Amino acid sequence: VGGHPKPQEGAMRPAGVKHIIAVGSGKGGVGKSTVSSNLAVALARAGRKVGLLDADIYGPSQPRMMGQTKRPASPDGKTIIPLTAHGVTLMSIGLMLPEEKALIWRGPMLMGALQQMLTQVQWGELDVLIVDLPPGTGDVQLTLCQKSDINGAIVVSTPQDVALLDARKAIDMFGTLKTPILGLIENMSSFTCPNCGHESHIFGHGGVAAEAQKMGVPLLASLPIDLDTRLAGDGGTPIAATNSPVAMAYAQLADRMIK
Ligand code: ADP
Repeated sequence: VGGHPKPQEGAMRPAGVKHIIAVGSGKGGVGKSTVSSNLAVALARAGRKVGLLDADIYGPSQPRMMGQTKRPASPDGKTIIPLTAHGVTLMSIGLMLPEEKALIWRGPMLMGALQQMLTQVQWGELDVLIVDLPPGTGDVQLTLCQKSDINGAIVVSTPQDVALLDARKAIDMFGTLKTPILGLIENMSSFTCPNCGHESHIFGHGGVAAEAQKMGVPLLASLPIDLDTRLAGDGGTPIAATNSPVAMAYAQLADRMIK
């Protein structure tokens, strides 16, 4: 952080967006994108105007998770019309360049694309823009926190020690960047056998709650390992858009965010 010049604050904040909330994680694969899409859908179901920006350059999964993969139109060649899915205004960095190009992007290209996502996309009036960050603590997180002065960040982790270890680094980064941590979300907290009802804690138990307490931030939700959540994400209709029990958990999370 120290070596980077302080960019102009607010330079990348879209004009009509009231709140920007970033969803980060220390590690990949802990469910950050799943939580981002479901939180966005749950907030939209609660009547809020919601945008979802997929800034996960290493694995942009929102087009698939939200079921919208077509390239966004740019009729004037200057601004981009975002997609809409499940009541959410959607844009993904993955839709900007052919997939195989993402691997060879250099820092300045990335920053250019991120800036474009925020300032050239016609987000319109939004109550909240959820930003699905790449995992870890790299340039995208740094630029976004400094230039778009986001309102707060949520950190997603599984209860596993290795995930928590990296989650702590993400929390520390947001602290250094003076981005308020809104809370932690424990994903894949438990698994209930659909046959016998036995509950097992595959990735451990209680670690994220203990971490939240230690940091003095709320534990916003504990979400189970759930086959329907995975199937829904893969199928392009987030579980929060359904009537499953997990959709209720996301509705409660959305309620907490609104309050
Ligand atoms: P990340 O964004 O942290 O890399 P993803 O949201 O892409 O993680 O999730 C990784 C994989 O795990 C996806 O296939 C997703 O469907 C699945 N997954 C995420 N959360 C859950 C959950 N609570 N139950 C079951 N599968 C999940």
